Amino acid sequence: MRTSNWILTAALLVSVSAAAQQATDSQAPAQQPVADAAQTAQPQQAAPAPDQQPPAPAASQPAPAAAQPAPAATVAPPATVPAPTTMDQVVNLFIEREHGLIKVLSNRTPVVETYLQNLTADPQLGPVPSEDHYFLGRLDMGETIDRKDYLKEEEKSMQQRLLGGFQKLYKVQYQPMGFSWMVYADRTDFDREHYDFRYVRREFLGDVRCLVFDVTPKPKSGRGRFLGRIWIEDQGFNIVRLNGTYYPAPRNSYFFHMDSWRLNLIPGYWVPSFIYSEEGDFSAGVKNKLAFKAQTRIWGYDLKKGGKDDELTNIRVDSVQDSSATAQDASPLQAERVWQQQAEDNVVDRLTSAGLLAPEGDVDRILQTVVNNLEVTNNIDLPRPVRTRVLLTSPLETFSVGNTIVISRGLVDVLPDEASLAAVLSHELAHIVLGHNLGSKYAFNDRMLFSDDATYQNLGFKHISEEETAADKKAVEFLKNSPYAQKLDNVGLFLKALQQRAGSLNALLTTHLGNPLAEGGQVNRLSALSTQGPALDNGKLDQIAALPLGGRVKVNPWDDKAEMVKTAPVAITSARDKMPFEVTPFFPRLSRFGGNVPTAVPTTAANSTPNTGN
Ligand SMILES: [Zn+2]
Repeated sequence: MRTSNWILTAALLVSVSAAAQQATDSQAPAQQPVADAAQTAQPQQAAPAPDQQPPAPAASQPAPAAAQPAPAATVAPPATVPAPTTMDQVVNLFIEREHGLIKVLSNRTPVVETYLQNLTADPQLGPVPSEDHYFLGRLDMGETIDRKDYLKEEEKSMQQRLLGGFQKLYKVQYQPMGFSWMVYADRTDFDREHYDFRYVRREFLGDVRCLVFDVTPKPKSGRGRFLGRIWIEDQGFNIVRLNGTYYPAPRNSYFFHMDSWRLNLIPGYWVPSFIYSEEGDFSAGVKNKLAFKAQTRIWGYDLKKGGKDDELTNIRVDSVQDSSATAQDASPLQAERVWQQQAEDNVVDRLTSAGLLAPEGDVDRILQTVVNNLEVTNNIDLPRPVRTRVLLTSPLETFSVGNTIVISRGLVDVLPDEASLAAVLSHELAHIVLGHNLGSKYAFNDRMLFSDDATYQNLGFKHISEEETAADKKAVEFLKNSPYAQKLDNVGLFLKALQQRAGSLNALLTTHLGNPLAEGGQVNRLSALSTQGPALDNGKLDQIAALPLGGRVKVNPWDDKAEMVKTAPVAITSARDKMPFEVTPFFPRLSRFGGNVPTAVPTTAANSTPNTGN
């Protein structure tokens, strides 16, 4: 019951926020204070002090797309604008750019994933997850969805509609939902009539120099307005980060705080990519029941194109095979194998085009190296090579279809070392070697004809428990012959850490396509290794049994490509730094599209930023 109450609260806050913004839209003309023309044109807060001139970005302000490779999808970059000379003009520019972004993305339906951990205080470890919730859907960036979902009828049925939303959330359906309130400061009324903008300072976020503004809603401008801080990059004047909340809140409720990041993935536009939310105060005497942290990831902006390249590759591979097979008919066994490959290709293409699978890339090379190590040392010689792919979602899962092993991004993130990665891959390799082939029914193409929303209902690769046991047994055999044989203590530690958190991370351990690593709070994967190695000791700072989420794999939200994160190691100074399986804030290193650093910066920066601390 506690769970239900909580998530209802979450849904309520989310939905009310969307509703509140919309509600004020419809009433906006009546509610607006009579605008003092002078004030509207020049909010006094925005007037720059003499030493705070905007950077002279731009005598030669580069057109964002200049000399850069065309992006995957054709989104025309915005027209170049004259360089602003006052902060007032900067405000006008970023307001205009924000509306331009909303328009450009309005026909996109990217994938949105929110993973949320409720927190409880642990004397040794600090706030730790007590339970968790997961939501995956398609984000309709168009204007209509919030209105459609929440605003059709009177307040009386609002509660019912929220309950409807709550059930959808809880059941984790793969379908469109109105999440768009979180990605923009204010979808419809981001302007001078509703907000005051006050210039704060200059600051670098990663490689990108930004102008920082505080944003406050004007009095009587309606409920659920953005209140917080925005970072504006100083070439195209796009918002790259928003940090704050919505205000004022409706009675008996309040809004989440959020930290929302955008990436420059296409020329001239910064695309909403990550949102971190956190609530809760664990200092002595505080009685706030709501304590959580949540990561929202958005990807798959360019989904329509997905799959086409794969198809072409497959055609080419097939023709090569045909010419080498000296014109013989396929034997029954060959026919069976071709059939299975067809199913495998169908599933991989379908999952990729639904935005759930990363295209083949960097991470696969690492995964394939590990699989190769297992194969070579175990003399495994399969008729077709084993491939690997990354499932883009957070829940910890692996599965295989034909000779393709799929591992989730979340699982790669939390694995502490290569031996643990080898362990989870070896289980799937064992299924392949043992011929536990699932999914050949997907060789019939009609079975691929379902909408993206219904992917999870139409695909599934769960083995019966006898096959699971057999695969675990075989996997341990493989590992003991492999280069990882001496490091199986680490695998044991990982399994112990997973066991310690299994009871409170039900959503993270709920798989969508493959067999779960744990059920009913009990880890069942590779149980023969679970007693291996030393006891789990949170106080031992050099014992890293599992990592936080998000530390290993980086996904490009535009084209879904996955790559390994390059981070410098950071020393752990207390048990609270370990955060196994936990959600942490996002802090992406921002850079411009194509990685170009404007050559004009050193001189203009020196001339125009005397005292910014940068
Ligand atoms: Zn299995």
